[in-house]
Amino acid sequence: MSYPKSPLMGQMMSQPLLISSIIEFAARHYGNNEIVSRRVEGDMHRYTYRECEERARRMAKALEGLGVQIGDRVATLAWNGYRHMELYYAVSGSGAVLHTVNPRLHPEQIAYIVNHAEDQYLFFDLSFLPLIEAVAPHCKTVKAFVLMSDRAHMPQETKIASLLCYEDLIASSSDDYTWPLFDENSAASLCYTSGTTGNPKGALYSHRSTLLHAYASSMPGALNVSSMDSVVPVVPMFHVNAWGLPYSVPLSGAKMVFPGAALDGKSLYELFEAEGVTFSAGVPTVWLGLINHAIQNKLQFSTFRRTVIGGSACPPAMMDTLIDKLDVHVIHGWGMTEMSPLGTTGGLQVKHLSLPKEEQRKILQKQGHAIFGVDMKIVDDEGKELPWDGETYGHLYVKGPWIIERYFKDEGGEVLVDGWFPTGDVATIDGDGYMQITDRSKDVIKSGGEWIGSIDLENIAMAHPAVLQAACIGVAHPKWDERPMLVVVKRPGMDVTREELLAFFEGKIAKWWLPDDVVFTEALPTGATGKIQKNRLREQYREHKLPTA
Ligand code: ADP
Repeated sequence: MSYPKSPLMGQMMSQPLLISSIIEFAARHYGNNEIVSRRVEGDMHRYTYRECEERARRMAKALEGLGVQIGDRVATLAWNGYRHMELYYAVSGSGAVLHTVNPRLHPEQIAYIVNHAEDQYLFFDLSFLPLIEAVAPHCKTVKAFVLMSDRAHMPQETKIASLLCYEDLIASSSDDYTWPLFDENSAASLCYTSGTTGNPKGALYSHRSTLLHAYASSMPGALNVSSMDSVVPVVPMFHVNAWGLPYSVPLSGAKMVFPGAALDGKSLYELFEAEGVTFSAGVPTVWLGLINHAIQNKLQFSTFRRTVIGGSACPPAMMDTLIDKLDVHVIHGWGMTEMSPLGTTGGLQVKHLSLPKEEQRKILQKQGHAIFGVDMKIVDDEGKELPWDGETYGHLYVKGPWIIERYFKDEGGEVLVDGWFPTGDVATIDGDGYMQITDRSKDVIKSGGEWIGSIDLENIAMAHPAVLQAACIGVAHPKWDERPMLVVVKRPGMDVTREELLAFFEGKIAKWWLPDDVVFTEALPTGATGKIQKNRLREQYREHKLPTA
């Protein structure tokens, strides 16, 4: 899309918005601030932004030596750690494109996206060596695989034809490298959607989109990151660039703390305490472990005071526990891979401060307000815009400079509708601009022509003390087409019956929303990004006979 030019153009410096400028800024202005990482090798590693930038330049120089050119794709298969951070800057900063691959994908899917992206090199953490040995022969464009460790950790024998050592590359390279300047609309990084149906599709971010997203997401009304913070991105760097934190944290000069592969409650708690962590971010399923660990052991956090929870709906019971029992404020965030990912964040406004706590909590439970740069609307099946009354729900459409225009290699063809991106979510927006997701379009339960939102039902179930996790799916019904059914995982050592749980819903929702059945299970299936896979549940219970049928 191009726009008309004014006869009188502004007279400010024309500097491209480039990712390298973030790490240069952090190194120059917050040079002594720390990046701390729990390494997959087992120990802790600490250094400063200044050292990070220097090593990123060495790596950029090494990439040049390997023949990586502007626009070439370089893949990573790695946990959150300082070497991964160096690659964020070395690869994108040099003009190449960082392709972060999700190691939780099926090996066939990994090979598919590596080939689709035409990755030239693939960097990986030690813990993924067996996975890489299995997929390497299928990765047709990869010239060499780079183990992100030192010589001492290189395998004696390996099936990988061309294996390089990360620390050798850094050591043999010089820091005689200056970050190049190029068009800010150049591709910077590539992230594939989880692809629950069909093949994964790539969202190709630009330097400009990444920088604007980093600016907007650090604002006080959004994630509110500053140099006073110590930040743990629990959300993986292979999941939409850890929601932009590897950019917004150095941009703000905050201390960065990487958890590596240790995402269990105990490890996270110890890390948060040891590193004075103030702020974190992750999907609801990872907080379960940390919350359980803290509650069971009667622990409090010394410094941890804010977290953003998103990727799927934050259950109100989780929000209550974090705020009321652990003194951790929850920012509910919503977004998607196609949006870099941040679209909305929850929070109160001055006029809400006089409301009773329960009313305030209802506002915080919504997915929140658009952050500047993102516009949104809800529309009906015909595309007609629906009112912002907090009740009417419709298809959620968005637009903005960090939202995709098309998928990589035009996969899926035209995606925009009149310039708007259809998110696939169903939502309400209230008169103050707060958006609330009722469901994903494909998870909505259609009962007798009316829609029932599964998220509401799950939230109520999870408020029951004996319920650890709940998923609500539509199950075939002869009269109503579909009726809601709950699939529930009980808390260890606690019990609840089907009848007790159904009774728990009474008075909390309209009668016809009441689930027709409850089944108990040991665990819910989760996908590569830690979200519950409802399509698998639907498949599993396809033949389930509802007692009401
Ligand atoms: P991400 O990688 O950011 O999780 P995905 O592209 O995997 O993004 O999934 C995006 C989808 O996740 C959204 O379209 C929405 O359905 C769901 N989602 C994300 N955040 C929330 C939230 N806070 N509440 C409910 N659903 C959410």
